[in-house]
Amino acid sequence: MRFVSTRGTAPPVSLSEALSQGLAPDGGLYLPECWPAPELDGRPLGLVEAGVRVLRGFFAGDRLEGQLPSICREALDLPAPVVPTRDPGLFLLELFHGPTAAFKDFAARFLAACLARLRQPGDPLLTILVATSGDTGGAVAAAFHRRPGFRVVVLYPDGKVSPRQAHQLGAFGDNVHTFRVAGSFDDCQAMVKAALGDPALRARMALSSANSISLGRLLPQMSYYAAAALRWQAVHGRPAHFVVPTGNLGNALAALLARRLGLPIGEVVLATNANRVLPDLLRTGRYQPRPSIPTLANAMDVGAPSNLERLRALHPELADLRAQVHADSADDATIRRVLRESEARYGTAVCPHTAAAIAVAERLRAAGRGGPWIVAATAHPAKFDTVVEPCLGHPVEVPPALAALLARPSRAQPLAASPACLKAVLATDLSD
Ligand SMILES: *Cc1c(COP(=O)(O)O)cnc(C)c1O
Repeated sequence: MRFVSTRGTAPPVSLSEALSQGLAPDGGLYLPECWPAPELDGRPLGLVEAGVRVLRGFFAGDRLEGQLPSICREALDLPAPVVPTRDPGLFLLELFHGPTAAFKDFAARFLAACLARLRQPGDPLLTILVATSGDTGGAVAAAFHRRPGFRVVVLYPDGKVSPRQAHQLGAFGDNVHTFRVAGSFDDCQAMVKAALGDPALRARMALSSANSISLGRLLPQMSYYAAAALRWQAVHGRPAHFVVPTGNLGNALAALLARRLGLPIGEVVLATNANRVLPDLLRTGRYQPRPSIPTLANAMDVGAPSNLERLRALHPELADLRAQVHADSADDATIRRVLRESEARYGTAVCPHTAAAIAVAERLRAAGRGGPWIVAATAHPAKFDTVVEPCLGHPVEVPPALAALLARPSRAQPLAASPACLKAVLATDLSD
């Protein structure tokens, strides 16, 4: 299996090359050149086995092919249950049972398991740069923490992540270096891009990134949709319909790709917050990226979704795109309403991102599209306690993995929002 760039002018590469490179040399994103149907017999599968079956075709012929089962056992061995709520029309696919209590743990652990197996004796220390709006940085840090041969440099926008996210980002230590940047997430991303594109810096150190365009993050996310849909089909005798909280479109795209492989998935609906670029694109046919607006669902504050290039490469015609996905948004007032009502209505507290998706599912049902809908619950509500608890009126119990991180001391160095400052830090302070 080879992987081709969305822009079509870079040469096709192997899976290992695509994983190591991140972005294609022509600036495009890698997509598989064909869609290998997994071997399925309609029986439900656990997450690890679903991962192996769904990903086998993509690993065919690659250096990592023989290691796929061990990669899946190491990275995907986390619960991802579909749980009923008090409302028979709404189910939650709980993706927050990993070490940092957000769905990004699945993908970050998978990428780390792949990159660790690609290392050769004598390879230099690899620095993974990651700009985060809150959840990615923690997941990547946890996945590479204390892994020999790697170190992680996390940049987050100071004051723009939840207090518990901030604590978590600085709680690793060892080979994880955390910087709080006096700027926005877009600034952090621009700093990472500038460092990755600096030949002088790259001559001095091996650099890579772990942002949401990485194929190594996109592919494994198909596994939990596959496992959930197979079980749903076995129990209910029909395909599963998903609503996915969406920012950079990595998670929702994985659901669409799983459907393309033949998994029993019906509708896939994108739910954004007030950053409405995707619903507007589907409605008007025009793509208008814009600066992101801060919202209560901060991990989805994205004004130019990075995986959109993949979705458009797969469906260049607007009519086709509209046939594949539906998108809607929820503003902060709506998110707050869902947070306030969720315990009474659904019997559970949810995070603000999940709340946006529940609001979209409620609107679909009010319009007669009954589902039942499975909402991807992308983070544990305790991670966003300062937003969730005032709406609920009581504290949310902290899951043990998150509690362990919050009990550790946390340290983040301040950094100006300038690419030159990041380069200086990498070249001097961290160059031991
Ligand atoms: C990252 C994140 C999202 C958005 O996921 P994308 O793959 O960027 O669309 C949604 N919810 C939470 C909790 C997240 O951390």
